[in-house]
Order: sequence, then structure tokens, then C-alpha cells
Amino acid sequence: MSKKHNFSAGPCILPQEVLKQASKAVLNFNNDDLSLIEISHRSKPFVEVMDNAIALVKELLEVPTAYSVLFLQGGASLEFLMVPFNLLRKGGKSAYTNTGTWAKKAIAEAKSMGEVEILGDSSDKNYNYIPKGYKIPTDVDYFHCTSNNTIYGTQMKDFPHCPTLMVCDMSSDIFSRKIDVSKFDLIYAGAQKNMGPAGTTLVIVKDEILGKTGRNIPTMLDYNTHISKGSMFNTPPVFPIYVSMLTLQWLKELGGVEAIEKINQEKADLLYGEIDRNPLFEGAANKDDRSNMNVTFLLTDESKEEQFNKMWNNAGINGLKGHRSVGGYRASMYNALPLESVQVLVDVMKKLEVN
Ligand SMILES: *Cc1c(COP(=O)(O)O)cnc(C)c1O
Repeated sequence: MSKKHNFSAGPCILPQEVLKQASKAVLNFNNDDLSLIEISHRSKPFVEVMDNAIALVKELLEVPTAYSVLFLQGGASLEFLMVPFNLLRKGGKSAYTNTGTWAKKAIAEAKSMGEVEILGDSSDKNYNYIPKGYKIPTDVDYFHCTSNNTIYGTQMKDFPHCPTLMVCDMSSDIFSRKIDVSKFDLIYAGAQKNMGPAGTTLVIVKDEILGKTGRNIPTMLDYNTHISKGSMFNTPPVFPIYVSMLTLQWLKELGGVEAIEKINQEKADLLYGEIDRNPLFEGAANKDDRSNMNVTFLLTDESKEEQFNKMWNNAGINGLKGHRSVGGYRASMYNALPLESVQVLVDVMKKLEVN
């Protein structure tokens, strides 16, 4: 394999077969002698892509019929604002966990629209754990959490009992493990971690929760606009949606979410095993809350930094540098990253120890 071992945090690795098919479609889609990105989004071939992408999301996540699946734009970051716009009643309150940079940004948007109660806050320890044991009040319009904290390497293993609407930012771990969609009322995820190129955002929303705030919602920010037009109110991002469809097809052929969850667990066991075994390394996140997607770790002996950096670079590894707010290293192991790439990293870590 001449390709790099790509541990990038996002945008990030996609299946090689998907990239090949996608590049072909850019030149000649469906053997129609037209590019995917130069045909009408209302043409039959593209409408089929959209229908297929939505059907695959529903199948892979076993989405109940009471929910709509949308492909929107503006990234997960626009959802930070769309959620309160669509769910927060006039004069109402919401509740959020504060578990990292993305959660903080979501909270800031909600605060611009109403009162926010912070229920679990791990900022006291630089977000290295998942807060637990909080009770969600019944008088808030919704509760919002982040299932996987991409930057800090923590992941919610369980979700709390929620007496109100449950909203979750699953940008960095959607399709990586089984989730019970019926426990949530709204799930959103930017495409560029486990699904496709940046440019589209997946939203899964229970229809009956919408239209109850008494607010005037700007057309483009109103989920009902997009539900009623099947994500085609305006021109959808055709290329990211097409590539997402290919990735979901790839995942289905591999055996679906259950199969990838097992592989992701193997990858995580392999890397965390080495971090815990090798005296030169230590994990950055609390053990019980470690993410299977983003593994954050540090060198115990900083004098080895230059040597380690050289070694993993020479091994063809990309994207291992930690986010500036944690330092050290971050190995992002999204669905498309093969176990062999993790083995290459672990071998480098072992080699550093004996050198
Ligand atoms: C990457 C990421 C985001 C930001 O997504 P954009 O699409 O860039 O807005 C939000 N939340 C989480 C958990 C992420 O990993």
C-alpha cells in the first residue's frame, strides 16, 4: 500500500474504494457521459442518490419511521444554532453538558437565545472525563450532549435517562457503534468524520417535536422546510451527499454498524493496550471514558519527542499531532482506518521504547 496511514481528526480517512468510485463519478457518472457535479439535482440519477443515501442511513441505524433523515449544509456548527431555534420555546430553558470545545460552541449559540443550564462540566480537568450522575430537570425544553469529544478523546459510553427532548451531536462517532435512535429526538453530525467530505450535515429528527416553539424561524433554519422538500429546498451539496452514500454502502457491505463496532473495538484495544503497557506513553483521558474514535496520549519523556515524530513520519503516518488544547498526540481511528495502520503505529511506539 503506497497510501499513508491516515490518523487525521477531520476531514479524515475515507475508504479507498469510495474515493475511486467518487473520482470516476466526477468525470463520468452512471456512464451518461456527464459529471455527477454538472447534472441537475432534480434529475433522476441524482434523486436516486439522495433517496439511496437516506435509505442507507435508515437501514444502518435502524431509524424508526417517526423520524426524518436530512442532508443539510452549514456543518455541525450551524446545528448548534438550529437546535435552539427549532426546539427552544419563547422564554424557555435548555440544559447542556459541557464536555469540550464543540459542546462549548453549542452552548454559546443556545445562550444567545435563552437560558442554559449546565448539567455536567468537565472543564475543571481540561475535559479529560465525561461528567456523570447529573439529573436532567423536567422543566427544560431539551437536553443536549456530545457523544464523542473529538479533541479531548472522551466518549459517552452510556446516555442518561432523559425526561425531556434528547439532542445529541454525534459528529465524530456516528456509524461507529450501535445506538438506539429511539432514545433520541434529534441527532446531528457533520459528514467529514465517518461519512464523507465536508459540506453536508446529517440530521435525524423526530417529526412530532417540531413546530412547537411559538417562534418565527427563518426559512433555511427551519427543519420543517427541509423535511417538506426532502432536503431539496435549495440545491443540496451533491458531491458530499454522493460520497456519503458510497461510504454507507461500503459500511453495509462490510456488515453494518455491528461489524464496524467490533473492528473499532479491536483497534482501540490494540492502541490503548500499548499506551498502557509502554512506559514512554500515557493516555490523556480518564480510562472509563476513553474514546474509540480519537485516542489522545502523551509522551512521559519529552526528550523523546523529536525522535518519535521522526519515526512515525518515516513510517508513513499522517495526522498524529495532538490538538493545541491538549498537546501530545491524537490518533483518530475512524471507520475507514484499517487495523493494519494501528499496528504500524503500535510498532513505532514499541521501537521507540527499545531505541
Ligand atoms: C468536527 C466536529 C464539529 C464541527 O463540525 P463542522 O461541520 O465543522 O461545523 C462539531 N462537533 C463535533 C463533535 C465534531 O467532531
